[in-house]
Amino acid sequence: MTQVSRFVIWICRHFTKTQIELIIKELTDVLANRNPEVKPRDDFQEKHPHWRKYSVDPTPPRSTPPTPTSPKLNWKQLLVDSKKKTGKEVSPVVIRNPKNAIPNHIHCHWCSAPQEYLYYNNGKQHSQVRCKLCKHVSPVSQRYRKPAKYWCPHCGHPLYLWKQQPDRSLYKCDWDGCSYFLSNKRKLNKLERLLLPTKSSQFKLHYSYAEYHFTEEQLIPSSPEKKDTDKLYSIRNTLNTLCLVLTFHISLGLSARKTAFVLRHVFAIPASYQTVLNYTQIAAYHCHKFNLAYKGDADPLQVGDEVCIKVSGKKGYAFFFLSPSRRKITSYHCASNREVLPATIALKEAIRTVPDKTNTITAITDGNPSYIAAVDFLNRTENAGLTHKKVIGLQNLDTESEEYRPFKQMIERLSRSFRFHTNAACGFKEPNGAIALTTLFTTHYNFLRPHAFLNYEVPCPLPQLQGIATLQGKWAKILRIATTIA
Ligand SMILES: [Zn+2]
Ligand SMILES: [Zn+2]
Repeated sequence: MTQVSRFVIWICRHFTKTQIELIIKELTDVLANRNPEVKPRDDFQEKHPHWRKYSVDPTPPRSTPPTPTSPKLNWKQLLVDSKKKTGKEVSPVVIRNPKNAIPNHIHCHWCSAPQEYLYYNNGKQHSQVRCKLCKHVSPVSQRYRKPAKYWCPHCGHPLYLWKQQPDRSLYKCDWDGCSYFLSNKRKLNKLERLLLPTKSSQFKLHYSYAEYHFTEEQLIPSSPEKKDTDKLYSIRNTLNTLCLVLTFHISLGLSARKTAFVLRHVFAIPASYQTVLNYTQIAAYHCHKFNLAYKGDADPLQVGDEVCIKVSGKKGYAFFFLSPSRRKITSYHCASNREVLPATIALKEAIRTVPDKTNTITAITDGNPSYIAAVDFLNRTENAGLTHKKVIGLQNLDTESEEYRPFKQMIERLSRSFRFHTNAACGFKEPNGAIALTTLFTTHYNFLRPHAFLNYEVPCPLPQLQGIATLQGKWAKILRIATTIA
């Protein structure tokens, strides 16, 4: 018995004839689109699981062409043969009109003869060349007029430039005999195969590769704005009050309102909620410089993740990378999305202070494909020697996830700690607020917070802070050091 027939029996058991008539009427309205509130469930995606499933291919392309399988004919041999036969050497083709010149990278498909023995065979179309040596015709696709930069890792065909966007160039393998294409095509179900001829662009079947072009300026981690920083020493009590603000608001995770309350009613210091926010932002600018300058060496193994935050009512992300040996934060970055640019910024900063860059550096993250592209970008542009390991889902379904899950759990504990320290803010009014709190959280986490795993030492112990008994005293010392950083 089908699910629907069982449901009909259930209805008949529970409702009277009149009620069933009413149900039918309401359902007819829904089907006829007369009820704007209720629509039948759309099962299109369920029936077409590969529809618009665009994902990043984890294998980077080859940057050199695969060694060619020896052609059936050899142009050098053809030259020798011709000389024997006619007594004369075959001269290269003379092309009078420069518009008809053949680009250097084009070779004869049959005998590999270079461009000087080829000429266009079909007039202005320029889509076919004929070889003077073997007389065969080779196609020159519009897509391959320019020399290839990358080759498909699956079939070795040159990739053509598919789309050019401001931040990236997309390359694609268009060969219909590519093993990657054929295996993806086999995965389509019957309904998807019916759609394929008319909606081929909605299915990702061919191998593609995105080459990102970020500039140095784009790759700088988010830093708090410089705000009234002269105020730091201008009023006699400011630094003292400011450090109490940081102790309660950051180290103890009290909300700005509660911090102002403690200052007023415990320490009898007149401070408003707004004072707390202002002081936080003044301190964040200096602490950001301090965090970057004093974070010390990073491990050749970095684990990263992003935490959801709310900024002006919209979703945002705080990216973190952690060095497992001392559990210290090696980079943080706030962004409005979790795409390739913020992932690259966070990873680049994380590996900046790895001492020995000659060995490979491992980055462990979740399945977010942005990290695949970030690793590829840094390897390509900076020779970073990065390898990427993924920990996927909540259960270990593959050996890689099993091996690296303990590291993922470390960064999840960091995320929980971050949420504890920032939850009181209940979301941020503006991006700078989010950046300021993320920065100060990092200062607290790396330099002030004792860690049980480290025998209650802080992740980055500094001799300058030793012997200072109170948290507010340590914050004051950090600020004093920070203002000397250029
Ligand atoms: Zn030829
Ligand atoms: Zn291919």
